[in-house]
Amino acid sequence: MRAEDFPITGFTGVGPQLAARLEKLGLRTAQDILFHLPRHYEDRSRVVPMGSLVPGVSCSVEGEVELAEVAFRGRRTLLVRVSDGSGSLTLRFFHFSKAQHEAFQRGTRIRAFGEARRGPQTLEMVHPEYRILRNDEPAPAAEHLTPVYSTTEGVQQGRLRALTTQALKLLAAGRIQVAELLPPQAIPDARFPTLADALRYVHRPPLDADLLQLSEGRHPAQRRLVLEELLAHHLSLQQRRLEARREAAPVLAGDGRLGKAFLARLPFALTRAQQRVHEEIRADLARPEPMMRLVQGDVGSGKTVVAALAALQAVEAGCQAVVMAPTELLAEQHFRNFLDWLEPIGVRVAWLAGKLTAKQRREQLEEAASGRAKVIVGTHALFQEGVEFQRLGLIIIDEQHRFGVHQRLALRQKGARDGQAPHQLIMTATPIPRTLAMTAYADLDTSIIDELPPGRTPVQTVVISESRRAEVVARVAAAIDHGRQVYWVCPLIEESELMQFEAAEQTFAALSAALPDCRVGLVHGRMKPAEKEQVMMLFKNGKLDLLVATTVIEVGVDVPNASLMVIENAERMGLAQLHQLRGRVGRGSVASSCVLMYKPPLSATAKRRLAVMRETNDGFVIAQEDLKIRGPGEVLGTRQTGLAQLHIADLMRDADLLPHVQKIAQRVLRDFPESVTPLIQRWLGDSARYANA
Ligand code: ADP
Ligand code: MG
Repeated sequence: MRAEDFPITGFTGVGPQLAARLEKLGLRTAQDILFHLPRHYEDRSRVVPMGSLVPGVSCSVEGEVELAEVAFRGRRTLLVRVSDGSGSLTLRFFHFSKAQHEAFQRGTRIRAFGEARRGPQTLEMVHPEYRILRNDEPAPAAEHLTPVYSTTEGVQQGRLRALTTQALKLLAAGRIQVAELLPPQAIPDARFPTLADALRYVHRPPLDADLLQLSEGRHPAQRRLVLEELLAHHLSLQQRRLEARREAAPVLAGDGRLGKAFLARLPFALTRAQQRVHEEIRADLARPEPMMRLVQGDVGSGKTVVAALAALQAVEAGCQAVVMAPTELLAEQHFRNFLDWLEPIGVRVAWLAGKLTAKQRREQLEEAASGRAKVIVGTHALFQEGVEFQRLGLIIIDEQHRFGVHQRLALRQKGARDGQAPHQLIMTATPIPRTLAMTAYADLDTSIIDELPPGRTPVQTVVISESRRAEVVARVAAAIDHGRQVYWVCPLIEESELMQFEAAEQTFAALSAALPDCRVGLVHGRMKPAEKEQVMMLFKNGKLDLLVATTVIEVGVDVPNASLMVIENAERMGLAQLHQLRGRVGRGSVASSCVLMYKPPLSATAKRRLAVMRETNDGFVIAQEDLKIRGPGEVLGTRQTGLAQLHIADLMRDADLLPHVQKIAQRVLRDFPESVTPLIQRWLGDSARYANA
């Protein structure tokens, strides 16, 4: 029988209640059990004498119970004192049953595994795994490294081990099979075992296995599974892409009249990179199937202009375009830009933010529904609130790293009408290495704006301890003396918005006092959008010299005269965020600088991160460092990549497999299309069903 057809209820000891709990872990069949892979391994084969236990180290011990008593100091606790002649140890349980207590009779032999910690009297193990050894039962000789699985309430380690043992037995006896779904010729490494062997190995590695290699996930058996998991995810995203392509979309092929008029009025020419990406988009939009394109471009590379050209192409073809941003502030900036650019050439722009008055909102909705407004700008709340369009042809999503795959899909569905789905253009400033992008965004085509507009001077970055704050303030004063403007970004306080706000107010007061001749403004997350806007506009129009801000300016307005940015507590921010912030200066032709202040002492990682910021302005290099330090889940936002639920693969560690994954995917799609669904089901299970629903 195929492992995926063998129900979990067919396992010994699995009744309806346990089956329900296992279901919570997504475990329904023998296949699910086999692909529920260990998180890590422990070597329990070596029993350590209690006399030589070291705090902080996990290990096995074996000994006799001397005393078991319930203590009531603060909390009801079962304390079991065991000794083995070389020393003694206390096992501490906060949750325990009466039967459990009674089983610890004086003289009982037990084997326990746990982490030794310093206790009030002896070393302790808190809630160790243990078993009671019957009178002269020899201690069980461990035959393999002990796998540790992720568990859920009501399903313990022991249970999962028993289940995997059963599943492996069924597999060995030929009662269940796991199909080899990878074309054998496509396996990139001759050391990779067969699927069945790989599963056996990772669930029960032999005692002489290389524990370090295993814990790093680099054993060929693990790599064999990693390859398949990455392939399954890749195929799943590709499948969504194919499904999307099967829908019809409006052909947006205008005469280019509006685009030309727009470009003619711009005070600059497009960079070659902008031109190339614009052409790629133009070709996509003229096709009768929905475009799904991701545009990557560093901060300041000029994505907005490219988006405007795409919107105009939709308008020329008699359709509307929507521009969505993740925050009110960013949406406002787009609105202003589009208003400036498009109204003069006769294209009406509507504005839909969360905080319009009821009347304003009604008016804007009417603009959108009647088709008078051709471009509608707003936050993504826009779509959640039943906005009607006359004829929507294109959805533009800015700063995509906050959008999930599922949101992307939901959007497309909401925009669909009369059997036609709108085109989608997604823009991100988070550059991702190409192979990674091809897997993480396999449902999208990608374009890259890999060039900054000319005339930008690279930002000079310095890293300074906050003990030298006075020098930094002097530097701010000097810049303002020279007629420049300055940003001062307040510490990031994640714990509470209120604290963040208070810190900003304090900084504002201190700087106002230190710089009595300067015009200082404050903008923070607790302000109403209109207030924020007002302050930002003052700064933009040169009415403020110094803008004290919380990180809300991350996506704030464009002020070419701002030539200095000070960022406090820079060591606490992510590289991508620092890069985004720093991108606010260096927009004009004057030399700009960025001061990263930190609170000592710096950890080694923080030191390295700040050094990266000092050494490069290249968003691509920074993103790659960020990936190394934080991992792709953090950087890309796990949700939106669709790769959130990787069991065994790790996009950074296993990056070398990604090119193979792409090749194998093509081959499977071409020669073995019947394998696609089983592969996806095996690795993604429920989440795939959810995504396709
Ligand atoms: P981002 O890619 O970060 O969204 P923007 O679209 O906000 O960048 O553009 C940053 C700034 O560069 C804006 O002031 C924009 O007007 C300007 N800009 C865009 N394209 C060019 C160009 N080809 N030449 C000169 N300036 C440009
Ligand atoms: Mg932008």
